[in-house]
Amino acid sequence: MIKIGGRRVPMRELSPEERIKNFSSVPLGYTEAEAVREAQRCLQCRGVPCEVYCPIHLRVLDMIRAIAARRFQEAFFIIQADNPLPAITGRVCPQESQCEGVCPLAQDGRGLNIGKLEAFVADWARARGLREKLQIKERPQRVAVIGSGPAGLICAYDLRRWGYQVVVFEALHKAGGVLQYGIPAFRLPTEVVDYEISYLQEIGVEFRLNFFVGQNIPFAELRRDFAAIFIGTGAGAPLFLGIEGENLKGVYSANEFLIRVNLMKAYRFLEYDTPIICGRRVGVIGAGNVAMDAARCARRLGAEEVYILYRRTRKESPARDEEIQHALEEGIIWMELVAPRRFLGDEKGWCRGVELVRMRLGEPDSSGRPRPLPIEGSEFVLELETVIEALGTTPNRLFLKQAPELAVNRWGLIQVDDNLQTNLPGVFAGGDAIRGNATVILALGDGRKAAAAIHRQLSEAER
Ligand SMILES: Cc1cc2nc3c(=O)[nH]c(=O)nc-3n(C[C@H](O)[C@H](O)[C@H](O)COP(=O)(O)OP(=O)(O)OC[C@H]3O[C@@H](n4cnc5c(N)ncnc54)[C@H](O)[C@@H]3O)c2cc1C
Repeated sequence: MIKIGGRRVPMRELSPEERIKNFSSVPLGYTEAEAVREAQRCLQCRGVPCEVYCPIHLRVLDMIRAIAARRFQEAFFIIQADNPLPAITGRVCPQESQCEGVCPLAQDGRGLNIGKLEAFVADWARARGLREKLQIKERPQRVAVIGSGPAGLICAYDLRRWGYQVVVFEALHKAGGVLQYGIPAFRLPTEVVDYEISYLQEIGVEFRLNFFVGQNIPFAELRRDFAAIFIGTGAGAPLFLGIEGENLKGVYSANEFLIRVNLMKAYRFLEYDTPIICGRRVGVIGAGNVAMDAARCARRLGAEEVYILYRRTRKESPARDEEIQHALEEGIIWMELVAPRRFLGDEKGWCRGVELVRMRLGEPDSSGRPRPLPIEGSEFVLELETVIEALGTTPNRLFLKQAPELAVNRWGLIQVDDNLQTNLPGVFAGGDAIRGNATVILALGDGRKAAAAIHRQLSEAER
C-alpha cells in the first residue's frame, strides 16, 4: 500500500557533542524501514521534475519505486547504471536546488529526501559487495584522462564501458580530486570514495597516481600516445586576499588546511607525520561550503572558538543550508558584515589576530548580491591564532604553462565548444577546469558529455 505525502522521515545524526570529537559521518543513514517509508511518500509525478532537473538525468522515479517496494538490489542497479558514484552524489549534491527543490512536496518543506535515499541504496549494496558485472566489448583505442575528480571519473567510466583502454593520470597519491582531499570525512567518508573508485579499477580503468601531467610526462607526449584526451584538472589553486600579514605562521588557505586534514591525515598526527597548526581561536574568512568544512574541521581539531567571518549576511551566503545548520549546531560563531584589513603577528612571526572593518550592504553588484561596503572608522581587532582563507579557487597554472597551445580565458579556464572539445582536436575538457568553482554533479555532467563526444569521434574515425 503506497502512502503518499506525509512528513519527511527524519535523518538520524550524531549529536553535536559527539561529532566535534571525531571525523565520523554526521548523518547516520536510513534504516531499511525508514527508507521504505520515505520512498512511499513519492507522488510519482508524471513529468518527473526530479529527473528533468538532475544535471545527469538519473532515473530517480524508478529507483524510488523499487525502494518503496523493498526491491533494494533493483534500486541500486537502476541508479548505478547511470551513475558510478551514487553513495557520493547522494551525500554531497545540492539536492535542495535540484531534484528535491522541484519535488512538489518541497512547496511546504516536505520534499522527498532523494539524496539520502540514493545514499541508502548505495550503502546497502556496498555492505553486500554488490556490483554490476559489465560485459565489455574491447576496443583498441587508448584514451587519457587527466585528473581523477568527478569529471575525470565519470568520463573514464563511460569510455571504459564502451570498451576503450582508459588511463587516468592523477597528480596526488590518491584518486578522487576534491572528493578525496577537500570534502571532510564527516560529510563524505573516505571508505565510500575509495570503494566507488575501486569499481572503476575493477572494470579495467588504469590509474597512474603521483603523476602530474606537464611534469612527469609532457602534455605533447600524451597527445601523441593517446587517441583522445579528457582534461579534468579542476580548479585547485587558492585565491588570496593579498593583505598585510598573509605570510604569518598560522594563516592558511582552506585548500592547504583541508588537504593536510583530509588527504594527509593531519588529524591523526603521530600516526601520520603531517603537522597542522590549529589554535584555540580560529577565524575562517568566507561563508561558502568550503568555509563551513574548514571551520568544522578546526572545531574537531580542538579549537574552542571558531568564527566564520563574512562580509555579507547569512542570507547571501553561498553555503548549503544544511552545512550552515550543522556548523552552528557544532558551536561555530557566525560573525557577519565584517571584512579583514590585515593580519597581526607577534615578533616570532606567528599570527595573533586580524583587524576587521565593519561592512554595510549597498546596491547589487555583478553577482546580483548586495555589494558590501566598508564603514570607515569601525575597525576592531579579533584575537586569533589561526586564520583560514576560504575565498574560492582558480585553475592551477602549472599545468596550463606546460600546455601553452591550449586556449584559456583570462581566468585560466579552459575554453571549449558545445561538445566540450578544446581548440585542440581530440582534446576535451570539463568540470571546474572549464567552470571555476562549481559542483560535483556539474562535473559529472561534463565528464559524461565529453565521453559521449569522444566516443562519437573515435567511432567515426574507425569507419
Ligand atoms: C572543500 C570543498 C567542499 C566542496 N563541497 C561540495 C559539495 O558539498 N557539493 C558539491 O556538489 N560540490 C562541492 N564542492 C565542489 C566540487 O567538489 C567540485 O566542483 C568538483 O570536485 C569538481 O570536479 P573536477 O573533477 O572538475 O575537479 P577536482 O575534483 O578538483 O579534481 C581535479 C583533479 O585533477 C588533478 N590534477 C590537476 N592537475 C593535474 C595534472 N596536471 N596532472 C594530473 N592530475 C592533475 C587534481 O590533483 C585533482 O585530483 C566542494 C569543493 C571543495 C574544495
